[in-house]
Amino acid sequence: MTLVKEEKILQTYFGYETFRPGQGQTINHILQLHNTLAVMPTGGGKSLCYQIPGMSMDGTAIIISPLISLMKDQVDALQALGIPATYINSSLSTGEQQARLRDVANRRYKFVYVAPERFESMTFVNVIKRIPLALVAFDEAHCISQWGHDFRPSYRSIVPNLKKLSNIPVFVALTATATEEVIHDIQELLYIADDHVVNTGFERENLSFHLVKGKDKQSYIRSFLEEHREESGIIYTATRKQADALYDQLTKRGISVSKYHAGLTEQERKEAQAAFIHDEKSIMIATNAFGMGIDKSNVRYVIHYAMPMNIESYYQEAGRAGRDGEPSDCILLFSPQDVQLQKFLIEQSQMDEASKQNEYRKLQAMINYCHTHGCLTSFILDYFDKKVIKGSCNRCSNCVERQEKMDITEEAQMILSCVKRMGERFGVGMTAKVLKGSKDKKLREFRLDQITTYGILSAYTEKELTERIHFMIAEQLLATEEGQYPTLRLNQNSVDVLKGKRPVEMFTAPIPTNENADYHEDLFARLRALRKQIADDKNVPPYVLFSDVTLKELSRYFPT
Ligand code: ADP
Ligand code: MG
Ligand code: ZN
Repeated sequence: MTLVKEEKILQTYFGYETFRPGQGQTINHILQLHNTLAVMPTGGGKSLCYQIPGMSMDGTAIIISPLISLMKDQVDALQALGIPATYINSSLSTGEQQARLRDVANRRYKFVYVAPERFESMTFVNVIKRIPLALVAFDEAHCISQWGHDFRPSYRSIVPNLKKLSNIPVFVALTATATEEVIHDIQELLYIADDHVVNTGFERENLSFHLVKGKDKQSYIRSFLEEHREESGIIYTATRKQADALYDQLTKRGISVSKYHAGLTEQERKEAQAAFIHDEKSIMIATNAFGMGIDKSNVRYVIHYAMPMNIESYYQEAGRAGRDGEPSDCILLFSPQDVQLQKFLIEQSQMDEASKQNEYRKLQAMINYCHTHGCLTSFILDYFDKKVIKGSCNRCSNCVERQEKMDITEEAQMILSCVKRMGERFGVGMTAKVLKGSKDKKLREFRLDQITTYGILSAYTEKELTERIHFMIAEQLLATEEGQYPTLRLNQNSVDVLKGKRPVEMFTAPIPTNENADYHEDLFARLRALRKQIADDKNVPPYVLFSDVTLKELSRYFPT
């Protein structure tokens, strides 16, 4: 099928020369009345995928959209192009809603935007039933799925009733963020065949991901803003309280910023959003309440002041940078407290137990992102699509700031044997304490000071050990049991590491060497003894063998 008519619409109405990747294919499927799912990155041009068929086909197109602000923007844009469009939602007076509905019944509109809840009104459904329809599109379709990061039950519950309406020629679903689970879920719910899923992939080549750890967040942000004065950006915080605090801090220092979160009045939010969109204030400090569907193309950076709850949210929020295709930065400021905060937020939520477990599972992937030493871009792409080949993007902070590669196999083996000796019943914190040989009372309570790996890595600080363990989880050399307090378990990779079949490498700053040859030989002998004891699985007394040597040194001297 050639899209002559559709290309003409693209050029004459929208003023664009050619289709973007995936647009033509999606439009083609829709015109042939195949239910279609388009998965494209934020800014990829999903709106045109239903707008152009909507104009090309007879009848009215109904767009279901989760956010009121999003509807108005889209409708304004269409109206500005001379296309008859409207929205009906609770922000309008009842009289206005009725007036618009009458116009819908009179087939005055090509596009009607509504929230899912609208379909709970029989008056609305009765009108829709009686007019010719072109298509029904689900924008932000991940909201349909409980596996998605923004599940809206009303989005899901209307689908069976919609399917009963005989005058809907075709369903269209669009999303930027979908894991395989979400894609399958949407497909099943809307009867979308594999052949009609158009997935352009997630990679946004103009975005550079950065991970910043162990720095004072506020001073980092101040110096960043200092260097990026002319640019527009968003700073996301995990809570309203954080947003308020950061806003006050920066305002006090004379930096002009906007603020947006659900605790503000609608008027305040409107003003903040408008000031940001129109470049009156270039910096927006916000919670995740801000941004869905906001089409501001020149956002040059998105900073996360704290780790978000999952990778879906992170990629969607970070993806608000660089919609114009220009190089932009996505920076995540990580501190270990972020993890506690997110766990707390999940625990406090109203979700049922199964959903909570699912959230913990997704949170763990987010934590892993913050501890991987591999390419950050690849980590994200792999999370959404296991088929993606892992590589180096050469622009994320892990690719760019790569330091010395260090073999830490021995150290990893000791960590793994410790997890095993502890009966695979404890989490990261307790394991680090045992490795350190901590005097913490809790260890005595569980008799963990009696096991052979107690103090085996005492040359390290607990913090360093925690970091190593998180790194191993991130690299899937250790498994975690899901839940609020995930316990560590061995997996097949751990067994391979323990058997010496799999080396473990980590990127670290260069370490000064000790050139004394006797010292080397001495260490080597002790290391052999240790490995034998672990291999024999003997109940040997607590190790003090290496308490005077850091494992950094050990692994440097004795790679496997
Ligand atoms: P999404 O919903 O996928 O995040 P939008 O539909 O809001 O993205 O489109 C993002 C931007 O890209 C908009 O400014 C839109 O006008 C523009 N755009 C869409 N399709 C094209 C195209 N074929 N050529 C040029 N620009 C396009
Ligand atoms: Mg969109
Ligand atoms: Zn990279």
